[in-house]
Amino acid sequence: MTRDEAKRELGELRGLLGRYQHEYYVAGRPSVADIEYDRLFDRLVCLEREFPDFVCPDSPSMRVGSDLDADFPEVEHRIPVLSLDKAYTAAQVWAWMNKSCVAAGRRLSFMMEEKIDGISLVLYYEDGVLARAVTRGNGFVGNDVSSNARTIREIPLRVERPGRFAVRGEVYLPVGVFEGLNAGMQTPYANPRNLAGGTLRRNKSSETAKVPLRIFVYEGFFEEGPGYEAPESHTAVMEELRRLGFAVNPRNVPIPAEDAASEERVAGLIGDYAKARAGLSYQIDGLVFKVDEIGVRGELGFTGHHPRWAIAFKFESPEGLTRVLKIEVQVGRTGRVTPVARVEPVEIGGATIENITLHNQDYINALELSEGDLVAASRRGDVIPAVERVIEKNGESPLWRMPDTCPSCGAGLVDRGAHRFCPNTEACPQQCKGRLIFFAAKDQMNIENLGGETIEFLWNEGMIRDIPDLYRIPYEKLEGCAGFGKRKVELIRQGIEKSRAQPFEVTLPSLGIPEVGTKVTEILIENGFDSVDKLFDIAARNDAACLLSLYGIGEKTAQRIIEEFSRPETRTLVNALQAEGLSFAAEKKKAAPDAPRTFAGQTWCVTGSFEGWKPRDLAMEEVKKRGGKVVSAVSGNLTHLLAGEKAGGSKLDKAKKLGVTIVTEAEFRALLDNSP
Ligand SMILES: [Zn+2]
Repeated sequence: MTRDEAKRELGELRGLLGRYQHEYYVAGRPSVADIEYDRLFDRLVCLEREFPDFVCPDSPSMRVGSDLDADFPEVEHRIPVLSLDKAYTAAQVWAWMNKSCVAAGRRLSFMMEEKIDGISLVLYYEDGVLARAVTRGNGFVGNDVSSNARTIREIPLRVERPGRFAVRGEVYLPVGVFEGLNAGMQTPYANPRNLAGGTLRRNKSSETAKVPLRIFVYEGFFEEGPGYEAPESHTAVMEELRRLGFAVNPRNVPIPAEDAASEERVAGLIGDYAKARAGLSYQIDGLVFKVDEIGVRGELGFTGHHPRWAIAFKFESPEGLTRVLKIEVQVGRTGRVTPVARVEPVEIGGATIENITLHNQDYINALELSEGDLVAASRRGDVIPAVERVIEKNGESPLWRMPDTCPSCGAGLVDRGAHRFCPNTEACPQQCKGRLIFFAAKDQMNIENLGGETIEFLWNEGMIRDIPDLYRIPYEKLEGCAGFGKRKVELIRQGIEKSRAQPFEVTLPSLGIPEVGTKVTEILIENGFDSVDKLFDIAARNDAACLLSLYGIGEKTAQRIIEEFSRPETRTLVNALQAEGLSFAAEKKKAAPDAPRTFAGQTWCVTGSFEGWKPRDLAMEEVKKRGGKVVSAVSGNLTHLLAGEKAGGSKLDKAKKLGVTIVTEAEFRALLDNSP
């Protein structure tokens, strides 16, 4: 194939694919089968790979993104990207309409639009090609996120209009999509907007491409040129944007001049909308009203911060405005470093909020948050304080960045996944204190009268450094300290002494070993790993496989147990606590006399779903109760596979091949009935 032939075919493919993408993602009327689309797309990618110098920014192949790291250089906006003045009642909206009419000297028509709760994005087109996509930033300077924006299917990469123009839109994520994605995340996002913002700032555009972000455009800024004119009304701008292939919200409501003249009608429109918003598949936080005539907009102009030709009506929500005084980082017992916003005290839903966790750098980036910003705060699920959005930039502070060193011990921090950690596990004061507080807490050793403040004090006085020190507190010395009377010290001593008798199922998870919580400890004990020595043994043999065969223990947990019990520090800690008399082996349970051990010697696995056991783990509990062993994977030593509805796939096939007894739900029930 010659270069000319390739160039011609690439042009044809891009034209076709661009049209198909628009039909599919924007118009919702695909005219071609998926398989045909995929075939053409593969051909395009293949040709571009062969002739890389023909790759261009408006190629439909840009939709899949790239694995190259992008940075997001700051660029200046060519258009004013201002926020809107706000109204909180219908009367305020109507008053603003009237004021606009008075300023214009005649009755005006308006447009009512949904205020999508998303991320504001400005798209710059030059000679028909998307040249640049820029975040709002501070309104004058934003970040260039073009490569990520190109993966959003609803953003046209090429349009039929010469010259330069800019389009403002709101990138959003439908609520259903958000819930699905968020469920699988290590650090869930507070709301669809934050996830959309985080996605738009992924370093690799291929990551952005995985999330089906959407956009509605709501403003167009057209320049005139020979043979093409700028539209004269907002309605015409929206019409032109629709023609060019942009996603314009079909629920925009034009308000003719005669309707706008009636306060009752305006209030009615708002009232209807407030009711209808619950049925939308995406979140809106209000409505926007705009003067329709572009010429009048020019006459009305701007205040310092807002255009006078538009106003946002905000729905009521349990939010409070507050200022971020500073952002500090906390070091947890696992070394994870978490930024926390200290805010001016604000009352939201009956509680006073002063501290708000910000999770990690991605979360802060999504908010574009700096110290000093005025923010809207809420309580997620009416409990957990969250920063919803920045209302007003402080303007002087830069975007907040995580520190590179630990504020507690000065060690260089390391990134693991979305989070930053202090690697100085043994000596970092905050981590040590965190482990001590965790150990003594109610859900672990439950040491009475030994709270966080006392531990903090003991640490600061140098009386404790590590967990075993709790059992060697110099009580006489403590009694001499301010605030520690004889009686108080005696109560502390009693609490600590009592804790020496805690059983293995409490002492093990209290150590705070990652992945080894109460549930995992229970599984380990049930399956015969009933002493810490057995765990040291499998770690010494590096035998993750024997853990993996346990029902309820996954790869990550198994690997972590091996790692943690291979560390000499873990051995030292356990030895010291054993020397203090703490138990690191489970007491042999006396078998209940009436437990029928009819499944003894059998090994069971489960697949599919069941009428009588939801979740299906409950069926496996019955097996365990009757002396059977339960595993999560089909292997050679499996004797029975319980196969429920919709069972199929690899487990069933493999079990059949191995000659494992397959048991249906009805048969299983019969087996249980025979051994009540
Ligand atoms: Zn540290």
